[in-house]
Amino acid sequence: MRLGNQRASGNVEDRRGMGVVGGGLGVGGIVIALIAYFLGFDPSAVINMVDQGAPQGETRDAPKGAPVDEKGQFVAKVLGSAEDVWGKIFQQANSQYRPATLVLYDGQVRSACGMGQSAMGPFYCSADEKLYIDLAFFRDLQARFGAPGDFAQAYVIAHEVGHHVQKLTGTFQKMEKSRGRLSKAEFNRTSVRMELQADCYAGVWGYHAGTMNQLDTGDLTEALNAATAIGDDRLQKQTQGHVVPESFTHGSSEQRVRWFKRGMDSGRAGDCDTFSASSL
Ligand SMILES: [Zn+2]
Repeated sequence: MRLGNQRASGNVEDRRGMGVVGGGLGVGGIVIALIAYFLGFDPSAVINMVDQGAPQGETRDAPKGAPVDEKGQFVAKVLGSAEDVWGKIFQQANSQYRPATLVLYDGQVRSACGMGQSAMGPFYCSADEKLYIDLAFFRDLQARFGAPGDFAQAYVIAHEVGHHVQKLTGTFQKMEKSRGRLSKAEFNRTSVRMELQADCYAGVWGYHAGTMNQLDTGDLTEALNAATAIGDDRLQKQTQGHVVPESFTHGSSEQRVRWFKRGMDSGRAGDCDTFSASSL
């Protein structure tokens, strides 16, 4: 990527090196909030786990603003680029984009959706409108998932920003409402639609990053490679040796690639309607 002229977003909360303290949420308060993960984690299982396991912690403020280290700067610039793009798209629809906060942490983090663990991969919490990333995931992306490159990392951030767009457009609330009525299999299918839409939104950002001259040759390949690496079928094959499509929550590699490309081809958020699409 070429982010030299991109402003860094100040909406970054740097909790690296701060441990698990902070947040101000008691153990007793069961939080019903959807968490959207980048990888194929089962959200309902994770919510149960975090509600039981959240330790008490005192509140400690983390520094806010663009971090100065290289990795922190990169993240803040990608976030800034996404804010610029979505700001314009919302404006064109006579609406206003409310930016999300990106939280950098290591190991564990307290969110309004419960405790986050870096092993879960990056996630978005709709209750506090924050995206949580442990930068160690970017190393995993390269070493464990075989998806190197800065644009692969940017895709991860843009996917989580995509979930925030879903929060702003009401898609998240709709899914939350329907959760009690749906069977497990139906809920998983809805989750796949949510995730593929976030991938498509990441592509929409990628298109506009391209028009702003922020892409290098090879960047698209990096993102498509990453989308392939984190498809549910690929992950299941790696972790359990076989594939169970009914348990998919994020979509297959082929679907993740296809929806990312769809957004990347047109740059139009309207092309990301995975909920009306008859086939994914
Ligand atoms: Zn996601």
